[in-house]
Order: sequence, then structure tokens, then C-alpha cells
Amino acid sequence: MPHPYALDDKSAALTTRTATLADDVVARHSAEVDRNARFPVESVAALGSAGLLGLCVPSDLGGLGQGPRAFCAVAEELGRACASTAMVFVMHTSATQAIISSQSLGDRDALLAEIAKGAHLTTLALSEKGSRSQFWAPVSKLTARGEGFVTNAAKSWVTSANHADSYVTSAQMPDAKSPLESTIYLAHTAANEIRPQPGFDGLGLRGNDSAPVSIENLTVARRDLVSELGKGADTMLQVILPWFAIGTAAMAHGLCRAAVGATAHHLSSTGFEHTGTSLRDLPQLRARLAQMSVRTEASRALLGRALAEIEAGTPEAPLFVLSTRKAALEAALEVTDLALKACGGAAFSRQMPSAPIERLFRDARAGWVMAPTVDHLDDFIGKALTGLPLF
Ligand SMILES: Cc1cc2nc3c(=O)[nH]c(=O)nc-3n(C[C@H](O)[C@H](O)[C@H](O)COP(=O)(O)OP(=O)(O)OC[C@H]3O[C@@H](n4cnc5c(N)ncnc54)[C@H](O)[C@@H]3O)c2cc1C
Repeated sequence: MPHPYALDDKSAALTTRTATLADDVVARHSAEVDRNARFPVESVAALGSAGLLGLCVPSDLGGLGQGPRAFCAVAEELGRACASTAMVFVMHTSATQAIISSQSLGDRDALLAEIAKGAHLTTLALSEKGSRSQFWAPVSKLTARGEGFVTNAAKSWVTSANHADSYVTSAQMPDAKSPLESTIYLAHTAANEIRPQPGFDGLGLRGNDSAPVSIENLTVARRDLVSELGKGADTMLQVILPWFAIGTAAMAHGLCRAAVGATAHHLSSTGFEHTGTSLRDLPQLRARLAQMSVRTEASRALLGRALAEIEAGTPEAPLFVLSTRKAALEAALEVTDLALKACGGAAFSRQMPSAPIERLFRDARAGWVMAPTVDHLDDFIGKALTGLPLF
């Protein structure tokens, strides 16, 4: 069957292998990861062993050399099994792309080789307490000291905060005239000056360890710079945002597919003893399932179109990147809401351990509040369509 993201043979084979790993390993831990709000260590280790932490690292550095299409297909399979694991993977891969794009990072290729081996987990630490969801505008600053810089920051949310080996993070350049004059740098988490707060406790994605991190008097050397000084916004908008947007869209599609599958199974396998009918005999439940399926496939098709625009490097690609994230986040909200209504109290009360609608419902809600939120996306898309600059 053709894949909506138009995979070539190698990407399709990798996706099939990921689907098996997702079913055999990742899904096995997902309910307990959610219940105990703990990091999915087994699943992330399995991704590393399978080479998936180096999925999009160039093959001459030991990676699998895959592009955005395979990235989306893999994120979707993981999202189907455990959205927390998918989130860790999407943040890691988006941060890795920023590293790949760097012309200034010392030992960049050695770091990428470690990532490809599954020996180094990275993530994005952009959001700050002071600028909240407006991640493109860090309030933290680099101050020149000696040959390099020193910085302090209150990063508000960092996925994998207590488990990543490095953060791809941001600060204003020295003497910046605006927060948009930012710089992306790499912070190694072994540094004593970096302190993540333990114990993320959220409504959904409860295993993603998205904790606040305080950075105090951290020395940043020139060889730690991922972007040029003052060019951080370019890295954020041209590299990080596109990879993050398509990855989170695909992850949302994984949630949608899981909800469609679980709902179809519940409607077909559950019934009324006193009438001898099953839930699928009720037309409005079938209609809900139909709406869920159509909404899911429409959004997957839009991601397929966005991937084609990216690959062709068209001027419309940024618009499709923003649009596919918005469509997928909204699809995940609607599809999981319909799933709850179609499956009723059985879904609401956590009585469906093999068909975890209520976890999917909670996990789906994270995307909307994660920057760029749907509010930001609406504003950006409207600006792009009317020829206004995004900022
Ligand atoms: C599970 C999870 C994982 C995350 N992981 C990471 C991570 O790894 N790295 C990272 O950097 N961040 C991460 N984030 C943080 C995320 O990107 C946002 O910064 C955070 O969710 C913002 O929350 P807030 O309360 O500060 O939002 P606020 O900024 O207070 O927003 C409140 C409301 O105002 C709206 N709003 C704000 N600004 C505008 C605007 N300009 N136009 C229109 N509406 C606006 C928002 O849409 C929202 O509805 C994560 C968030 C979640 C939920």
C-alpha cells in the first residue's frame, strides 16, 4: 500500500522495522510510563540500539542517512505506541538537525558519530520563564568573558531534561538590540552549572521529562556555538522549526491512528447482551469512527504535501510546514475527543488497558499548548498568506 509520506524502499523498510519495535518494546512500557510519569528508558535505549537516534545523521558519520520523510514515518509509528517516546525522539532529531547545520561547533562530526551510535541523547531547550511560549525570543543573554561567554538562564520546559547528554539552547548575543538577535549554543548537561528539576507531572506526555532547568554562570566557549552570533533566529526558523513541526505533526498522526484502531476494535468487540447487538450496530458510533478516520487521513495527506514542498524547496514550503502542524494538532484533539464519545464510559474510566483511549486523549492535548501553539500557528499562517513578516 502506498504510504502517505511517499517513502522509498529503504525508508519503507525502516518504517516497518520501527513499527515492529514500537509494538514489541515501546508499547509494552507505555501504560506504566504514563502511570508513573517516568522517562521511557527502555524504549529510548531500544531506539539507540536500532540506530534510530541516528536516523537522520549522514551515513558517512555512521547514521542511517535518512531525510524528513523517514523521520515523519518513524515519529508516527512511535506516536502510535507511546507519545512520550515519540516526543523524546522528535526533540532529539530536531536538535540533531541544528547540530548538523552548524558551521561553528567544535568536534561537530565526533558528536554526530556518538549520536549515530545511540550513545548521545540531545534535545531542545528554547522556552524560557521570561518569554514563555514565545521561544523565538530568549531573555537570557550571553555576556562576553575572555575568549568566550558566560550566561544565566531559566529554561522553562526541556524534554528529556534529566536524561539528555546535551541541550541545543538559546540566548541573546552580547549587546543584542532585540531578543531576535539570539544565538544557539550547545550545553553539555554534565556541567555543574546546569540544574534540571526532577519529576515532570503533566496532564499528558507524562514520560517526556519536560522539566524546568536553571543555568547559572555557565561558560560558553566559541566552539560551543551552534549558530553564528546573532543568527540564532535563522537556525530556529530554517532548521529547528521545520523539523519540529513535521515531526510533531507525524507524532499527532500516530495518536490519531492509535485512537482509530482502538475505537474500531472496541466497537466491534463489545456489545449488549440483552439485545444481542454490538456497539458497531449503532449508526452514530460508526459515523464517529468514520469522521475519525477521514480526519486522520486528510491530515496525513497534508503532511505528505508539506514533505513534497520541502523536498522541492518551494517558496510555499514554510506555509505548508506551519499548516501541517496546525492541522495535525487539531486532528489529534478532534479524533481523540470522538474516540472518547464513541467508546463511552469504557474509555473514560481507564477500563480499556489494551485500548488506551483516555491516555491518547490526554497525550493529544500537549501539542496544542506546545510552542508554536495553535494560536501562534494561526497568526503565522495568516501573516504568511498576507505577505507580512512573521515577527
Ligand atoms: C509536553 C511539553 C513538552 C515541551 N518540551 C519543550 C522542549 O523540549 N523545549 C522547549 O523549549 N519547550 C518545550 N515545551 C514548552 C512549550 O514549547 C511552551 O513554551 C510552553 O508550553 C508554553 O507554556 P506557557 O504557559 O508559558 O504559555 P504562555 O506563553 O503563557 O501562553 C498562554 C496562552 O497564550 C497564547 N499566546 C502566547 N503568545 C501568543 C501570541 N504571540 N499570539 C497568540 N497567542 C499567544 C498561547 O497560545 C496560550 O494559549 C514543552 C511543552 C510541553 C507541554
